Amino acid sequence: MESTLRRTWANINLDAIAYNYKTIKEHIGEDVKFLGVVKADAYGHGSIRVGKLLQDLGANYLAVSSIDEALELRVNDVTMPILILGHTPKEQVDRLIKYNITQAVTCKAKAVEYSAEAVKCGGNLKVHIKVDTGMSRLGYLCDNESFGTGVEGIVEACNMPGLEAEGIFTHFAVADEFGEKNDEYTKHQFKLFTDVITAVEEKLGRKFAIRHCANTGATVRFKETYLDMVRPGLLLYGYGEFAREWGLKPAMTLKTTVSTIKIYPAGTAISYGGIYVTDKKTRIGVLPYGYADGFFRSLSNKCSLMTKEGLAPQRGKICMDMCMIDITDKPLVDVGSEVEIFGENNSLDELAALAGTIPYELTCAVSKRVPRQYI
Ligand code: PLP
Repeated sequence: MESTLRRTWANINLDAIAYNYKTIKEHIGEDVKFLGVVKADAYGHGSIRVGKLLQDLGANYLAVSSIDEALELRVNDVTMPILILGHTPKEQVDRLIKYNITQAVTCKAKAVEYSAEAVKCGGNLKVHIKVDTGMSRLGYLCDNESFGTGVEGIVEACNMPGLEAEGIFTHFAVADEFGEKNDEYTKHQFKLFTDVITAVEEKLGRKFAIRHCANTGATVRFKETYLDMVRPGLLLYGYGEFAREWGLKPAMTLKTTVSTIKIYPAGTAISYGGIYVTDKKTRIGVLPYGYADGFFRSLSNKCSLMTKEGLAPQRGKICMDMCMIDITDKPLVDVGSEVEIFGENNSLDELAALAGTIPYELTCAVSKRVPRQYI
């Protein structure tokens, strides 16, 4: 719902996401499955709407980070397979089974707990085994030294009662970074992963149904890593250099409106701390968009926002609920005029670079009080 009070909102272009999905599918080919990463409320785009869209489009899997995120989808009619990438407390295993949610198993201790709980409630928990091939976060550690123990642990988990090991996956640390060293690292991770799969499948005497590892970077740059399914997030939402390379469309356009206009004489310090002082008579537009909406205070005085008369420099410290722009040379920008923070006409990627961060952080930061409008 559009906010009538503050007039700041995010347009989410579902057609752009559908276009991106179809384009990625064309690149990966018919035989490769598609998992859409919709954790963190689909990177701020709204996981229910994006989840339903992907379901309608025929995607194979969704991934979230927690059971709360998975249940939110289930109770809103998302019936397709959902994988939880993060930890779920063992007390929730009965709900995972009841709602047919797939859980990542990341180490022996969790496999043991999940198995015991599944047996207790008389059901089977579908799991994907996570392998740590060099991300050094979650997963059975399978580097060169611990390869044997890692493989043994995975085989043991796959044979545990109450666990149905449908899939196996790993995560790349630098697939989206350029440079020979990074490429070598990704290739090394991929080789370890496929070696683990071969060793585990040999010991089990059966194959995993779904082997997956390709995030956005790998989906665009390392075709050989597709295996059974790709697992992109950012690419789907159309941001970053890889999305540009494939001609994808950014899905979110964040807009606000000028709420007040003030004329200040030269020598006026604008906002907290007085870090910007006007050098001439200046027309300032006050926008109802601040760091509580997801703007980054570190962008204060550094970025420009798009008005109908072009980019207007942001002036002074960004406040919790407001920020100011200089519209001295923009006479047509008036109270009520729309201002684009990022999106179709003001690149999110550039704004993220100015903030010294990645586009993921800016869309995830768009807070709950910014209504999403689906177009
Ligand atoms: N797989 C896992 C395990 C992740 O944690 C993430 C994102 O953080 C992704 C896939 C998707 O990554 P990207 O958005 O770079 O495609």
